Amino acid sequence: MGLGAAAFVSPLFGGAACQRRKKWYKGNLHAHTLVSDGRAFPVEAALLYRDIGYDFLMFSDHNLVHDHENWVTEKNHKRRRFSQRNARIFAARYPAFKPQTRIEPDGTMAWRYGPFEETAKAVNSPGRFLVMSGCEYNDAVSSRYCLHCNVINTFKAHTKKRCPDVMASFRNMYSSFERLTADEDALFMVNHPFYWFYDVDPLILSDFDYVRFFEIVNHDASPPFKKLPAGAYDADKLWDFALAKRALRGAPPLFATGTDDMHYYGNMYKEVAGERSTYGNHAFVAVAAKELTPSEIVAAMRRGDFYASTGVELADVRSEGKKLSVEVSKAEGGDCRILFYGTKRNARLDYSPGEERLIADFAAELGVERPIPAYVGTKRRVAKLPKDAGIVLQETKGLNASYTLKDDDLYVRAKIISGNAEAWTQPLWTNVRKANAK
Ligand SMILES: [Zn+2]
Ligand SMILES: [Zn+2]
Repeated sequence: MGLGAAAFVSPLFGGAACQRRKKWYKGNLHAHTLVSDGRAFPVEAALLYRDIGYDFLMFSDHNLVHDHENWVTEKNHKRRRFSQRNARIFAARYPAFKPQTRIEPDGTMAWRYGPFEETAKAVNSPGRFLVMSGCEYNDAVSSRYCLHCNVINTFKAHTKKRCPDVMASFRNMYSSFERLTADEDALFMVNHPFYWFYDVDPLILSDFDYVRFFEIVNHDASPPFKKLPAGAYDADKLWDFALAKRALRGAPPLFATGTDDMHYYGNMYKEVAGERSTYGNHAFVAVAAKELTPSEIVAAMRRGDFYASTGVELADVRSEGKKLSVEVSKAEGGDCRILFYGTKRNARLDYSPGEERLIADFAAELGVERPIPAYVGTKRRVAKLPKDAGIVLQETKGLNASYTLKDDDLYVRAKIISGNAEAWTQPLWTNVRKANAK
């Protein structure tokens, strides 16, 4: 739009200066409900997210989609997550959405939830709030591996298969995704790579080109250890390792999301009432979609037009040629730092699978008394990732910063830190395959 045309922009829409900015839709792409092991009715989960200011919520129940109605009681709920007490709290807070109830032959009260279309009809409001359908896939690998993928914008459920190892499970989940979503506009995301204890091999993210999204932060399924084992990699290092390896072979970039992986909704009632809570509303994505529809959310995510956050909000992320610029609109703490991470073209990307140790030994090293029982006796390797992958190229204090790629940079991405909150932009990527060919 030329300057002349800008004069005709209605002040209602904020004028040219605001138009330049993107409209960000805030969403949670990972939430469980009573359909699997979450503690809320689907409509309840949606209303709670809506009422703390989210624009969209995606349901991602374990190997299930919301394609059915069900009458749940404390006895018949498969995972024993339903409680009358919680149901009454919901009904009292949202009387207009009170689920139907009936008395079962054994005298217990059953509460109904409906299929996705019913939830969508009850809560969707054009441009204001949207529920999306998704599914969290998992196979039966061994109870000692927790390997999960979220399929975003699907109405089809994965069927669990017995798989011999980690790689086989990811290959199986992806082929299931390809088969099930052939007629859908869906995305495949690797969930919680650190859960329970470094279960997702870094090579899944660096070497499997079809993996385009992963959770850099999953509020529920973080490792149970507050600090990292000596020499172990963190989420930023994992991402940079994957980005550098992908850039060097001309593969597509990997994008990062943040999710709540919501199960327990009790505290969200506090958030709705304006009180601070430590659960829910923790990690999210903000998507610069053209409009609030599933297909535009997916399209923007495919373009990398979104960021992950645990509280920092961005007014704008722009890439112009080789320049990546960030403008922060909401910082949690007093000061705000913008760090640009990248990897140099001549980086050494040596990878070592690490030494195999008992998880209990890692736990002892970290002062954790009782590792999760299922993992007792389990051995795990924590790969050593190269120090050259992911270095800070520039650090700026303040709410605005930009970085221009230098000839020896493979990519650049920004991480914004303010108090305890962070945000991550997607990488600015250049096609480096040719330049790097020997
Ligand atoms: Zn999971
Ligand atoms: Zn989950």
